[in-house]
Amino acid sequence: MTVQTNTPASTVRRADDAATPLVSEGELPSAGQFIDGQFRPSSSGQTLDLVDPSTEKALAQVPNGTVEDVDAAVAAAVAAQPQWGRLTPKERSLVLLQIADRVEENSDLLVRLESANTGKPLVVSRDDISSTVDTFRFFAGAARAITSQAAADYYENHLSVIIREPLGVVGVVTPWNYPLLMAAWKIAPILAAGNALVIKPSELTPLTTIKFAELVSDLLPAGVLNVVTGTGPVVGARLAEHPDLDMIALTGSVNSGRAVARGAAESLKRVHLELGGKAPVVVFEDADLAAAASGLRAAGYWNSGQECGAGCRVLVHESVAEAFVQHLVSEVESFVVGEAGAGEDVEIGPLVSKAHFDRVTGYLERAKEAGARPAVGGSALAGPGFFVAPTVLVDVTDDHEVAKEEIFGPVVTVETFTDEEEAVRRANSVPYGLSASVWTENAKRSHDIAGRLDAGTVWVNSHLILATEAPWGGFKGSGYGRDLSIYALDDYSRTKHVMHNHSR
Ligand code: NAD
Repeated sequence: MTVQTNTPASTVRRADDAATPLVSEGELPSAGQFIDGQFRPSSSGQTLDLVDPSTEKALAQVPNGTVEDVDAAVAAAVAAQPQWGRLTPKERSLVLLQIADRVEENSDLLVRLESANTGKPLVVSRDDISSTVDTFRFFAGAARAITSQAAADYYENHLSVIIREPLGVVGVVTPWNYPLLMAAWKIAPILAAGNALVIKPSELTPLTTIKFAELVSDLLPAGVLNVVTGTGPVVGARLAEHPDLDMIALTGSVNSGRAVARGAAESLKRVHLELGGKAPVVVFEDADLAAAASGLRAAGYWNSGQECGAGCRVLVHESVAEAFVQHLVSEVESFVVGEAGAGEDVEIGPLVSKAHFDRVTGYLERAKEAGARPAVGGSALAGPGFFVAPTVLVDVTDDHEVAKEEIFGPVVTVETFTDEEEAVRRANSVPYGLSASVWTENAKRSHDIAGRLDAGTVWVNSHLILATEAPWGGFKGSGYGRDLSIYALDDYSRTKHVMHNHSR
């Protein structure tokens, strides 16, 4: 490809030193585990340090949870669940609506807290918190509208009644990329279906989940919602193996998914896994190239590309590749990169941690050594903070590591293809199957290709638009189970057949 190399793309806009910090000390959540309706210290007495990813300065401390903390939380949830599960759908629905209102009333604080902990721009946090509110409102309604097969005599003189019951108690483990929103995607349907839960937020970003528990503690009976902070290998692993839990639901990486599934095997509890992605973006020669590039401006770089559905791997027809990359580069060059406190117009923040920054910059260095070329960006931006320039990598081939593995940063790779068969084969060639998009003005082609792409969500002439009413979840290495939509309520409940003999 003959596109000019033009690196680096951006500098980091800094918040004014004299500006008020995003959150004051008094606004930080309680420093404790939320168990049985109360905040208490971890049984270890130890804490984990949280760091602001924009400045690398200390932000807060949270308890480093133990197996004993998990066991206490599970016991509280087991005791609380039967009464919660016996409430009518209407009663549970009213509580979920109150939770939505409470989050909405405190959205300004939750937005600032999410940005302070993750580094994400205010515009991204605002979207997270408003989607959190919408998730609770949707499941409040869905709880009252559950459908199932009609009761009928499917056997002579025997009336079959199909009942949806809660599973019982669910363990939940969430990631750092959308801390409160990913928690809400689990908490709302789990509560709506009549279950109790114990949730472990990511050790990097627990603040909004703890604050959420604080904000809604008076709305839920003690023990129905419990939060235990700590690390994956201790708190997460105990939840996965715990004999008294009925399901473990994880949103996270493939490796954590494997660990959780292994841990759950002994007790044979249900497993719900929302794992990584490597979404192909297939751009045909008849696509609206400007629209595709502008769609990718959001879909490839939203949340600094730390997004499981990010459109991160472009497969573009060779005849339009150069024109498409030119559109994409001019979109990417216009990003405002900066600290969340540096203005409402900041679009790209830092990566979440030093470890993740090292991982993403490692991918960029190895890609360049392997022959890929940054058409824009391509390296870290001057610190402090974990900033990486929004990047488009060209001259990428499908044997490159960056074309196969999830980078989870502001990096979009571009490969070319010659014909449709090749495009579909290569799009499906990675072990992930979370999402994909196809860009073409030909309606027949779009139907056909969407059907052949191996992904839980396929967009046509769009990417990364989600609706709370529609299911989200993966195929293949991206896991199983569905978040959002009525399908999540199915996942968090069980079907019972009660058959009445009424012959006389
Ligand atoms: P991660 O797997 O490192 O951590 C996720 C959670 O799992 C954390 O709370 C962590 O403490 C816990 N964990 C780690 N090891 C564990 C173990 N052995 N047992 C139990 N729990 C363990 O993932 P992350 O880096 O926080 O998040 C990024 C990943 O999440 C990416 O791969 C991304 O694609 C994926 N993700 C998927 C979706 C989706 O809907 N499919 C949504 C968001 C993020």
